[in-house]
Amino acid sequence: PGHYRQASSLTSMLSAEIIAIGSELLTPNFVDTNSMYLTRQLNELGISVVMKTIVGDDEIYLEQALRGSLERTPIVITVGGLGPTEDDVTRKVVARVLHRQLVLDDAILAAIEKRFKARSIDMPKNNARQALILTGSTVLENKNGTAPGLWIGADRNHVVLLPGPPSELMPMFEETCIPKLHKLAGDIALSRRIFRTTGLAESSLDARIAPIYQKHKNVQTTVLAKPGQVDVRLTAAGKTVAEADRAVQELAGEIEMELRDYIFTNTEQSLEEVVGASLTAKQATIAVAESCTGGMLAERLTAVDGSSRYFMSGLITYSNESKISLADIPPLLLEMQGAVSEEVARGLAEGVREKVGTTIGVGITGIAGPSGGSPEKPVGTVHIAVAGPALTKHQASLFYGSRDRVRWQAAQAALNMTRRLLMEI
Ligand code: ATP
Ligand code: MG
Repeated sequence: PGHYRQASSLTSMLSAEIIAIGSELLTPNFVDTNSMYLTRQLNELGISVVMKTIVGDDEIYLEQALRGSLERTPIVITVGGLGPTEDDVTRKVVARVLHRQLVLDDAILAAIEKRFKARSIDMPKNNARQALILTGSTVLENKNGTAPGLWIGADRNHVVLLPGPPSELMPMFEETCIPKLHKLAGDIALSRRIFRTTGLAESSLDARIAPIYQKHKNVQTTVLAKPGQVDVRLTAAGKTVAEADRAVQELAGEIEMELRDYIFTNTEQSLEEVVGASLTAKQATIAVAESCTGGMLAERLTAVDGSSRYFMSGLITYSNESKISLADIPPLLLEMQGAVSEEVARGLAEGVREKVGTTIGVGITGIAGPSGGSPEKPVGTVHIAVAGPALTKHQASLFYGSRDRVRWQAAQAALNMTRRLLMEI
């Protein structure tokens, strides 16, 4: 989920393409998880993935995809289509495109026969196909299935054929491909930084940092926007760690100066983890009274390991009656201001803080929609208050999107206000 954009890329990095093969991958309910896994692994080695293709079990389309990849990119990894059936066409197509023969490998055939024998099953004749290898290829052993992988060093490319089942692909890749790729990539050192921000929309954030990262062509900048959060990732490559660090640090410093308070962490931590760590450090406690978020804030706070140290109680004060009876909101206030108002948000925050006896109290009230809006209080109107020992802070927001999205962003904003208040305690 979220919107991901590669703002700039590293030209110096070795690059790879992935071709995922299988008609099931083109149906609406199948996710190509293998290529995500491979991308993560390749990035770790300092190899960037520049293109991914998903193609059905179709000789012609696969051939076209393969020819395109070979022209563009030094490392081409195919996934799937190594099975025993007629529709598994990868070997055949790769052999044709690379002008190689398919020959039966006796050792592989014996290994496949042995697998079947071990389970007391007669090997179907079809499975012999899986013992076909391309001339001049290296066999990648499959310890978890029948189809071996293949590695083919062609003129300008390395072509790697991997099986589709993740339980076969992952161990094979780690045991046989990583060492080879490591050699190819050489001793490239990578240095990374992450900034997680909240409170600034992706477009505004990008407008502020684009002039900065555009000056640093040697650092890859990616911007990933999720509801209520925008992550900025920087990656630099160098011959040594020190060189990569230096490149990334220069840009990171400038971005940090620009985004300052919007940054809630420079680790992979979530906002609730950051708030939890801060509450723990300050030996502070928290209680919340939620209306439109219906417990989402409490859920997020308590999802963090160790939250029992600081999270005391959460009220879901959804109805007017519960706001009165549980959080001591005066009935007259509700009547005059309406449930979705600054006064009620403040009342909830102060009320729950007082009742539970915590350092901090949070109150949220709003209109999550899609129904229930009015011209004065449109859908997405949310009032949040955070009460501390010295003062109560309030924020009125107008969030856009679905009910889920409005609720998530309200919880996110409440967490961020808590984070900021804690900095003053
Ligand atoms: P097999 O010998 O099992 O037939 P294969 O190499 O032919 O292996 P496929 O038939 O293409 O692989 O895929 C087998 C199974 O692997 C699929 O049904 C699916 O569950 C899984 N799979 C294939 N490709 C992917 C992918 N890109 N991401 C995640 N899972 C995949
Ligand atoms: Mg298949």
